[in-house]
Amino acid sequence: MSAGKRRDRPQETDRIVYDLTGIEHQYDTLLKELPGTEVRFALKACPVDEVLHCLAERGAGFDTASPAEIRQALDAGARPDRVHYGNTVKSDHDIAEAHRLGVRTFATDSLEDVAAIAAHAPGARVFCRLATSGQGALWGLDRKFGCGPGDAVRIMAAARAAGLVPAGLSVHVGSQQMTGEAWQQALDTLAGTLLALARQGIVPDHVNLGGGLPALGYLDRRGIPLEPPLDKMFAVLREGMERLNGLAAAPLRFLLEPGRHLVADHGTIRAHVVRLTERTGPDGGLTRWLYLSVGKFNGLYEMDQVTHPLVFPGRESEEHVPAVVAGPTCDSDDAYGGGRHPVPVPRTLASGDPVWIRSAGAYAPSYTTQGFNGIRPLPCVCVRGPEGLH
Ligand SMILES: *Cc1c(COP(=O)(O)O)cnc(C)c1O
Repeated sequence: MSAGKRRDRPQETDRIVYDLTGIEHQYDTLLKELPGTEVRFALKACPVDEVLHCLAERGAGFDTASPAEIRQALDAGARPDRVHYGNTVKSDHDIAEAHRLGVRTFATDSLEDVAAIAAHAPGARVFCRLATSGQGALWGLDRKFGCGPGDAVRIMAAARAAGLVPAGLSVHVGSQQMTGEAWQQALDTLAGTLLALARQGIVPDHVNLGGGLPALGYLDRRGIPLEPPLDKMFAVLREGMERLNGLAAAPLRFLLEPGRHLVADHGTIRAHVVRLTERTGPDGGLTRWLYLSVGKFNGLYEMDQVTHPLVFPGRESEEHVPAVVAGPTCDSDDAYGGGRHPVPVPRTLASGDPVWIRSAGAYAPSYTTQGFNGIRPLPCVCVRGPEGLH
C-alpha cells in the first residue's frame, strides 16, 4: 500500500454512529415522565431512515417542515394521521402537496397562511403557534415564528370561518432550553389564549408543547457539563398540562415535538486528528490548536454554542495539554467556542489518531455542507447498544 493511501484512509472511516437502543429508551423514558402525551419527532433533528423507522414502530409521529420530509416520514412507516406540517412557512404548492400526501394538520401563525391552507388543504386542522421569548434557550427561535394571544384569536376565528378546524395551539420554547421557567411562561400564555378562544366559542382539542427539551451531554466552553434541570422541566410540564385540562371546556390531548432530546446523546461522531500544532498568537503567547477531520461544515454546525465532549480512545491516562479545537476547513468560524476556549487534549496526538465526538447526534446529518473544501456529508451508521458507538 502506498504512503498516500495510508494517509487518506482515516478520513474515509469518519462517520456518525447512532445507537438505536438508546434512542428507543430515551423515547420510552420521555413518555413515562410525561404520561398522556404523544410524540411527533421533529424530523429535521435526525433525518436518518433507520432512526425514523425505529420511532415510527414505537408509535411516534413526525413534525415535518416540507413535502420532502413528509415523504421521508411516510416511507419510514409513519401513519399519515401522525404526521403534521409544523412549519409556519410554506408555499401554496407545499400545502397542496402535503394535502395530497395525506397530511391534514398544519401549523400556522398568520392570516395569509390560513387563507392558503383553506384554499389548498380544505377542511384541514390548524394549530396556531404562539410566540415565546426564547429566553433560557441556546437557540431562541423567537421573532421568526408565532403570534401573540390576540392575533391567535383572530387567526383561529378566520380558520373557522374558512372551513378549517381550529384544532390546537402550539409553542416552542427554544432549542436546548435550560430552564423550567420558559415552559412555565409558555403554559401561562397557552392558558390565557385558551380562555380568550373560549370566549369566541373556539374550543381546541390539542395543545402542542413543541420541542426544546435539552440534550444532557453537552459541555460549556470551559468543558463543564451544562446539566439542564430536566426533572424540574418535567414537573412544570406535568403540572401545566393538568392546569390547562382544568380550564378547558373539553379534554385536551397533548403533543410533544422533541428533536434534540431524543437523539443528541445517542449519536457519536467518529473522526480523526488532522494535526496538533503550536503557534504564536497575536498577543505573543503560544497557543496549541487541535485540528480535527470533522467540524462546523460536516457534523458540528452547533460548535459555537455547545462543546461536544471529546474522547481520545486509550489515551485517558496520558499527559493532557490545553488546545483550541477546530475543524478542517479554511473557515475561521470552524472552531469550538469561536476558537477562544482551549480544552485538555493528549499532548502526543498525531495525524490520523482517532477521536470520538460525543453527544453529536442532533442536527449533525441535516446541518452539513456538500462540497465545501471538498467535504462530503458523513455517512450514518446505526447500531444497537452504546458499545457500538466506539
Ligand atoms: C426544530 C423544531 C422542533 C425540535 O426542536 P428541538 O429543540 O430539537 O427539540 C420542534 N418543533 C418545531 C416546529 C421545530 O421547528
